[in-house]
Parts: sequence; C-alpha cells; structure tokens
Amino acid sequence: MPLNQHIVLDNRPTGQASVSNFKLLSSQTPALQDGQVLVRHHYLSLDPYMRGRMNDSKSYAAPQPLGQVMLGGTVGEVIESRSPAFSPGDTVVGMGGWQQYSVVNAEQPGALRKVDTTHVPLSHYLGAVGMPGVTAWYGLEKIIAPRAGQTLVVSAATGAVGSAFAALGKARGCRVVGIAGGPEKCRYAVEELGFDACIDYKQHGDAASLAQALKEACPDGIDGHFENVGGMVLDAVLLRMNAFGRIALCGMIAGYDGQPMPLRHPALILTQRLRVEGFIVSEHMEIWPEALKELGALVGSGKLRPRETVAQGLEAAPEAFLGLLKGKNFGKQLVKLI
Ligand code: NDP
Repeated sequence: MPLNQHIVLDNRPTGQASVSNFKLLSSQTPALQDGQVLVRHHYLSLDPYMRGRMNDSKSYAAPQPLGQVMLGGTVGEVIESRSPAFSPGDTVVGMGGWQQYSVVNAEQPGALRKVDTTHVPLSHYLGAVGMPGVTAWYGLEKIIAPRAGQTLVVSAATGAVGSAFAALGKARGCRVVGIAGGPEKCRYAVEELGFDACIDYKQHGDAASLAQALKEACPDGIDGHFENVGGMVLDAVLLRMNAFGRIALCGMIAGYDGQPMPLRHPALILTQRLRVEGFIVSEHMEIWPEALKELGALVGSGKLRPRETVAQGLEAAPEAFLGLLKGKNFGKQLVKLI
C-alpha cells in the first residue's frame, strides 16, 4: 500500500489562522477491508468553512479534532477496490481530506460518488458542479426565489459560490450585480461571468459610499441578496434593499478570524419587511440532484465557465488556504495532488 502524506490540525488559532496551526505528516496506507476502496486524490478543495472548524466553538458542526487529518472535499480515482460498487479507474468525489490517498467505506451512504468527466472536468466537481455550486443554487432557488426582471446582488462575486450564482441568476432572467475585491476581479465578473455590473468594495471606505455605488448599479433597488461576506458589505446592501426583499445568509467571511461585525442598520430588516435566512447546504441533500443537474448543464453548455486557482502539492495547502481567507484566490481554490 502507498505511503500517504497528510496534513493534520496541530493546534487551534487565536485570532488569525497561520501555517503553524497545521502539520504535514506521512504514514503507510492501511490494507483494505471488505467494502472499502482506496482513492488516489487528484484535487483537494479548500473552502472557507474549514476556518470555522479550526475553532473549538459552538457551531452547526463539530470542531476539527486536533491531530486528525483536516476535513475536506476531494476528487480522484479509485485505484483498488474491495467493494462491488466501485472499480479501479472510477472517477469519484468524496470527503477524502487533506491527504494524497483515502481509504473509504464505500457502502456508507454518500461517502463516495462516481462522476462523469465527459463534459465536466474532474476539478469542477469540487466547485461549480459541487458543493459551492449547490450552495448558490439553494440560496437562490429556496430563499431568494426571484422573478424574472428582479435585481440580485452577491458578494465574493468571483469566488466558487458567487460565480455559480451569477450564471443561475442570469438563467432566471434577473439583473445580477456582484461585489468583489479589486478592479481585475470586477472586470472579469462582467466580461467572463456575465454579471450586469460589479462593484469593487475596496474602492469604498464605508457602507454609505458602497451603498451609493449600489444605488447606481441597481437603479430599481435590490430584491434579493446572497451574502457571503458580512460587515460593511451587508450594511451597504441593507440600505438599498426593496420592501419584502430576501437575503440568503450564506457566509460571513469578513469575520472568520474573529473580527466583530456589528450591524449598523438592523431596523431596516423591520421597516423593509425583509426575510433574512441562514442556511447550511449539507442539511439540504434532497435538492442536490436537481441543483447538480442544472449546474452540470450550465458548465457543459459553456454558460458557466468557472475559474480556478490551483496550488501545487499537498504541502502548499496551508498557505493557499490562508490566502483564500484574504481574497488571494481568483475563483475556486484547489490543491493539485498529482
Ligand atoms: P470564495 O471562492 O468566494 O473565496 C473567498 C472570497 O471571499 C475571497 O476570494 C474574497 O473575495 C472574499 N473575502 C475574503 N475575505 C474577505 C473579507 N475580509 N472581506 C470581504 N471579502 C472577503 O469562497 P466560496 O465561494 O467557497 O465561499 C463563499 C462564501 O460562501 C464563504 O463565506 C463561505 O463560508 C460560504 N459558504 C457557505 C456555505 C453554506 O452552506 N452556508 C457552503 C459553502 C460556502 P474578494 O477578493 O472578492 O474579496
């Protein structure tokens, strides 16, 4: 059995996470038992939720245990199988973690899923046609539920979730406006992702200034907002929400390192009769097949052309992960493992 490099959470961060929170180790892969398969990972997904799991605090999921392989989505190839459901050569998506190989109990429901790479590249099953894409789909379809012609806004617009949101929103006939960090990301959002407009929040020092830019980009106000960031961005959007608007609260990345995020105008939720709903995509497995079908079709037809930032080699994962929390990624952040 192959030697397996893996990264564990060595200690928990206080404030900002750092590379010293992680440790790279290697060990022999255990021999397969009946019902198990050995998967060689081609790509590891890095996602903002991993930052929350590094803390030992109350959340929707248990903290990442110290000394154990960091949790994470992976795509790869079955190289050995003692399960009738999988054969060597199958391309699969699973939760293999920050390591080169994983031994998976293939009969455990949802542990491993075969994927077809004829029209969709393998790596996209960790992004647009995977968990981040489904996240965009759920918030749009089940919380915002827009009508054609309405105006939608999404923050972290060029990221894995934001870029899928744009394609889905445009497919429903909406005006879709992004908020992203820097002129290059904003240009890309409009020219490549199909956003009707994109606002560079870094050009705005406060919520009032950002709200003014939103007023210009959303002349009819905002009917639906998909929040990935929180803080100043949410303050600004609240100032422009239309009555009975919907906010899908997906992420608050501006506070993941423990920064306080006071809301300056919470009374607008009342006076504008807004619906604000948080959600966790893994709690809605029933919608995944429908969402993945639409997302796969959008990618297959070229209407959604997701961008990826790919770090090379497992040892690059901690640095790439910290970069994701600072906006250094441009599109879906992956680590290539072979
Ligand atoms: P992205 O690919 O969008 O990467 C994160 C982006 O967030 C960065 O590129 C950066 O974009 C932006 N960002 C980082 N720090 C800040 C900051 N301090 N202020 C403003 N923007 C910041 O990640 P994903 O698309 O994978 O995830 C987007 C959001 O969705 C995250 O908040 C994540 O936690 C959430 N999420 C929630 C799920 C759920 O079930 N609720 C499931 C999946 C994701 P920029 O340079 O434009 O600022």
